[in-house]
Amino acid sequence: MRPAGRSSQERLWSRPVKVQDKKVIAIEYTLKDDDGQLLDTSEGRAPLVYLHGAGNIVPGLEKALDGAEVGQTVDVTVPSGEGYGSYDESNIRNVPVRKLPEKRPALGALLQLQTEAGPRLALVKALRGDYVTLDFNHPLAGKTLHFNVKVVEVRDPTEEELAHGHAHGAGGAH
Ligand code: ZN
Repeated sequence: MRPAGRSSQERLWSRPVKVQDKKVIAIEYTLKDDDGQLLDTSEGRAPLVYLHGAGNIVPGLEKALDGAEVGQTVDVTVPSGEGYGSYDESNIRNVPVRKLPEKRPALGALLQLQTEAGPRLALVKALRGDYVTLDFNHPLAGKTLHFNVKVVEVRDPTEEELAHGHAHGAGGAH
């Protein structure tokens, strides 16, 4: 889909090549922890596509990519405070099993739960009788993130993408 009122020639002429706010960015990435363990990668799938400056990715990575050019590789270490936040013990809760949709949750399982704050993932940390101990921290909370990122495409967003605040299409939201 093409933004209304702009010809394809104009689009070519104004084609952005640098990562900047309100552009849709496609990246290939590898994410490792402090020990060099692989946490996540786009390898073997479509690049990740996001709307820059909209908080679609962690703040530390978004900042590091700002101004990068298509084809450029960026190595960045992101502290947890600019990543998925610090690990918070108060995000660990004891919940009666009867309140869960899953009546026999397995230890180590990741449950998708509806909470007062919206849908959340919770890790089953312990099972004690009628109670289950759930960890609502993000799995990457408290971790220093080591990203290796290659910018593969920068394009203008559609009006719909701007309105939604995220990118559509392969590798994007929905
Ligand atoms: Zn959308």
